[in-house]
Amino acid sequence: MPFTTDLPPLNYIDGHWVRPASNAAIEMICPSDGHVVGQIARGNAQDIDAAVAAARRAFDGEWGRTTATERGRLLSRLGLAILAHQEELAQLEANDTGKPLKLARSDVLATARYFEYYGGGADKVHGDTIPFLDGYQVMIVREPRGVTGHIIPWNYPAQMFGRTLGAALATGNATVLKPAEEACLSIVRLTQLAAEVGFPAGAINLVTGYGEEAGAALSSHKGIDFLSFTGSPEVGTLIQKSAADNHVPCVLELGGKSPQLVFEDADLDKALPVVINAIIQNAGQTCSAGSRVLVQRSIYEKVVAALAARMNAVRVGPHEADLDCGPVISKVQHERVAGFLERARQDGIPVIGEGRLDERAARSGFFVKPTLLGPVPLDHELAYEEVFGPVLVVIPFDDENDALRIANGTEYGLIAGVWTENGARQIRVAKKLRVGQVYLNGYGAGGGIELPFGGFKRSGHGREKGFEALREYTVAKTIVMNHG
Ligand code: NDP
Repeated sequence: MPFTTDLPPLNYIDGHWVRPASNAAIEMICPSDGHVVGQIARGNAQDIDAAVAAARRAFDGEWGRTTATERGRLLSRLGLAILAHQEELAQLEANDTGKPLKLARSDVLATARYFEYYGGGADKVHGDTIPFLDGYQVMIVREPRGVTGHIIPWNYPAQMFGRTLGAALATGNATVLKPAEEACLSIVRLTQLAAEVGFPAGAINLVTGYGEEAGAALSSHKGIDFLSFTGSPEVGTLIQKSAADNHVPCVLELGGKSPQLVFEDADLDKALPVVINAIIQNAGQTCSAGSRVLVQRSIYEKVVAALAARMNAVRVGPHEADLDCGPVISKVQHERVAGFLERARQDGIPVIGEGRLDERAARSGFFVKPTLLGPVPLDHELAYEEVFGPVLVVIPFDDENDALRIANGTEYGLIAGVWTENGARQIRVAKKLRVGQVYLNGYGAGGGIELPFGGFKRSGHGREKGFEALREYTVAKTIVMNHG
């Protein structure tokens, strides 16, 4: 019997589970085989209106008066509730997204960790004082933004729930969340858990539905004080335009074409498994996937042969088989990735390694064989466009300057990995890479709740995760007291 859930297709507004104004539902499809896993509400502008109004009442009311200590306790309690439901949430996540169960389990742990981390951080957002004129006392108080709107993608629904709401709630904002219609069942369940642990009405509001309906209504809503968006650069541009129209700030996290730089003195035994994992994890559908590997020319042949052997050994199959890689999220995404691979074939880009499809992989599933291609010319789309699938391109470089030129040579700038045993070079290169995170002899696709995360250029702006997110979700107010 295929897994199904009876989570109701309802929105969560003002502390109640309510029918969407449209009275319509959207079916959720399992990417491993195409079966219907469950349904979500098809929310629209009317539901968003109600959710924003509820958030405003909460911010001006009970939630706004909740102390930092109590907010921290609520977040910590939610972290514990998530841990207590880890297996249930992981099953939901794996069936909804197609990701291997072991990845879904670790995603749920990371979700809990967001609430533990920000639960501990809630009462540690301190203000400041500034020396000023004689007879004056100046205080800088960090205040919440107010009502915050959150639009997130389908690649890590549970984790994204923690990432986008953790810091916002810790700092006292009242939130309205619009997750992606492709996968968000774990978010419905997480919202139920948040209600059970006692978040007051209106602190968290959930409206599911399509981006053009519920998403656009949220991002353009005049009652929103701050927007957080993760997704494609194209929609990110629309979000920023809406934010500009309403004169509100936004944080945008828009993906990347993240490079791993492998120098001739690298420890290849350490580097190569990480290089492969950074592109097959979540079937390459990670904003910080390591999708380009830049290899110094003197070791190019050796590295390519070793990477090819590793790629050929990658096994792809349904989530329940718990292999190295699952399917991509949807038919649309499958066609998009297949389109990149077909154009590369027509352009004569050599395929140098390819994962194996497991016999349990249903024909109705959205499977893509992880693929290693190279050498890829710098002017080919595969060298600069985000594929968002398990496609790794190899590009040779001559020396450090050449490596930096290629690494910084796309419109993106999210994260990078640098593999070299030369300590001086590690720091030199790290400082010159125009990205938000640099890993030296390691790589963390999507990892590290404690680590500030965000991009440059087309990868977006603003920072999430770590204490930086607590700053994003607060704003400085200057209070000048004349006591002379
Ligand atoms: P989108 O940017 O379309 O989706 C991200 C979120 O934005 C979803 O919740 C979506 O809703 C919502 N949205 C869509 N249109 C609007 C709109 N007009 N106004 C407000 N919100 C909107 O990404 P896709 O899912 O279409 O994926 C396309 C490509 O984007 C991928 O192939 C990948 O390259 C990139 N991407 C990058 C991600 C990252 O983490 N950096 C994550 C996801 C995608 P809904 O989906 O429900 O319609």
